[in-house]
Amino acid sequence: MPRFSDLELAVEIDVNNTNVTIPISVDIDFEVFCARCGGGLCHISEGRLSRRRNEPQVTVGICESCYDEIKDEGYQECLKEHNIE
Ligand SMILES: [Zn+2]
Repeated sequence: MPRFSDLELAVEIDVNNTNVTIPISVDIDFEVFCARCGGGLCHISEGRLSRRRNEPQVTVGICESCYDEIKDEGYQECLKEHNIE
């Protein structure tokens, strides 16, 4: 499962009518699914922080089953376009 590690957050709490800010570090595990077929993509996804802005971001690989299906559709369209049976 992809994870964002050591995200830094600030929690504000009220202590005797005084706001106190406490910095905390959290890990967030999350799941990723293909928007087309709903297949799980956790094994080809990775959470990381962007290099310049230090923002959480995700890299996601191509859904293999959708890729195969689209590739096959393209192949079938090519056969039709060139009148090949
Ligand atoms: Zn898919």
